Amino acid sequence: MEEFKAEKVIDEFEELTKDAGRVQRETLKKILEDNASAEYLQKQGLNGRTDPESYEACVPLVTHPDLEPYIKRIVDGDTSPVLTGKPIKTMSLSSGTTQGKQKYVPFNDELLETTLQIYRTSFAFRNREFPVRNGMALQFIYGSKQFKTEGGLFAGTATTNVFSSSQFKTTMKAIESPCCSPDEVIFGPYFRQSLYCHLLCGLIHHNEIQLVSSTFAHSIVYAFRTFEQVWEQLCADIRDGVLTKDVTVPSIRAVMSKLLKPNPELAERIYKKCSGLSNWYGVIPALFPNVKYVYGIMTGSMEPYLKKLRHYAGDLPLLSADYGSSEGWIGANINPKLPPELATYAVLPNIGYFEFIPLRGSAEEDRQDKIQSSFESKPVGLTEVKIGEEYEIIVTNFAGLYRYRLGDVVKIAGFHNMTPKLQFVCRRNLLLTINIDKNTEKDLQLAVEAAAEVLAPEKVEVVDFTSQVDKLTDPGHYVIFWEISGEVSDEVSSECCNCLDRSFVDAGYISSRKVNTIGPLELRLVRRGTFQKILDHYLGIGGVLSQYKTPRCVNPNNSMVLQILCSNVVKSHFSTAFG
Ligand code: AMP
Repeated sequence: MEEFKAEKVIDEFEELTKDAGRVQRETLKKILEDNASAEYLQKQGLNGRTDPESYEACVPLVTHPDLEPYIKRIVDGDTSPVLTGKPIKTMSLSSGTTQGKQKYVPFNDELLETTLQIYRTSFAFRNREFPVRNGMALQFIYGSKQFKTEGGLFAGTATTNVFSSSQFKTTMKAIESPCCSPDEVIFGPYFRQSLYCHLLCGLIHHNEIQLVSSTFAHSIVYAFRTFEQVWEQLCADIRDGVLTKDVTVPSIRAVMSKLLKPNPELAERIYKKCSGLSNWYGVIPALFPNVKYVYGIMTGSMEPYLKKLRHYAGDLPLLSADYGSSEGWIGANINPKLPPELATYAVLPNIGYFEFIPLRGSAEEDRQDKIQSSFESKPVGLTEVKIGEEYEIIVTNFAGLYRYRLGDVVKIAGFHNMTPKLQFVCRRNLLLTINIDKNTEKDLQLAVEAAAEVLAPEKVEVVDFTSQVDKLTDPGHYVIFWEISGEVSDEVSSECCNCLDRSFVDAGYISSRKVNTIGPLELRLVRRGTFQKILDHYLGIGGVLSQYKTPRCVNPNNSMVLQILCSNVVKSHFSTAFG
């Protein structure tokens, strides 16, 4: 195996970013040349031109539904050049938690290679600040089942397509982060059994574990919440060298039996460590003494889990992983020392062609209008973005997506050489709107954070949350669903409700509330385990824990999730904040 040379990776990154404008033009040229025979591109009248100006003039901005007819043909087995020059053999199936609906996006070797380039780049920078050596990673990663579409293509979630490639394993070894769990565990059919065995593998290798990670930080929090419940069973398994009967998958049992040997001394040590913890604070370093950091995507919809993650991580640094999507990766975190709340992602100018639709005007209201407006500013190129401004990002990748609206809003935090460093702001989809009010995922998150402060003195926290616009009442109103970690008095929960209502600072919302064209905000507390049921529902329809993001706003036609929420309400309050 070729040795990983961090300095070489960093030098290459410096070269690419110093000349980001040129690299972008070349990347676009390469994408258009490689795929010149694709039916989709042929239709656009480029006639062999590959410059950004012609590209922008000929090729429309699209969203997933625009491409669905093409993608469907590929999924059904059309091997002619539809979206790409070379036929697509694999599809990524998005988890559908952000859009509420699963969708296929093409996956190919080029996309895999760009993913690994991102991993290598951020590792090179990370390892300068937080070196790991000859270690293992406790990775809470889960492969979904890869299946064959009717047309004979392989399909799985994007993470599964990456995890199951041989290049992924080679790269993880090269960057000193091989997963401590065997493949049978990663690709097991039941995520609870896989999670249990990930924890067990981690404990068996406790001294070698140098980092704890997952794709999205939610899975790490989820894993240690589970640990709180199963730790005694884990100790028993280690003591006796026998895997609990709850793990039933024969291939997992077989592989775990090779790893598990009776070790009463280790079991006792873990037992003592756990018993000595106060409310599980610092459980990660307590169990894994050589861990250098905790690693996973921690921005955007993952921010609400940071508090709990910090609690479990004690004094270990939390490092946000990179920025990307099933449609392709975008940027690497090259400043790992920044706390996750400030994490930025430097765009790799050779992994795709990127454009940015300006969203932000001078005033906040203007930005909100632009987020919604159908009259949009013209997109600008990667090197033309301005620091402090917000943009919607448009992706052209090596796997058949041309000028594809990802639906994410990013802010330019600065530049590394000529390439921008992006801060993730939110999904562009508006979450909550009744009339002139406009609140995004980020606004909801901030309101929930503010109201959660009311719970803090009670030592109770918000486990998870989502929202809904209820237009069946007259006037319509916002409904926020909360699962909290303990009991609180009616007085406290009603104050949380008022605080939520007051914390939406959007001018349209406040003015509508004042004149009651939006009714009092409703807080509904749901039973413990409700969000687990929502997760189970998504896993049941083919999602995978590695890519799971709690839906922050439930669409009225998402009847299953609404039913889960509504049938688990234990109490509700209407705000009195506006009299
Ligand atoms: P998926 O549909 O599972 O491919 O998820 C892709 C989406 O996850 C992106 O479009 C973003 O909205 C979100 N995402 C990915 N990486 C990050 C990140 N570093 N910070 C915040 N959100 C992210």
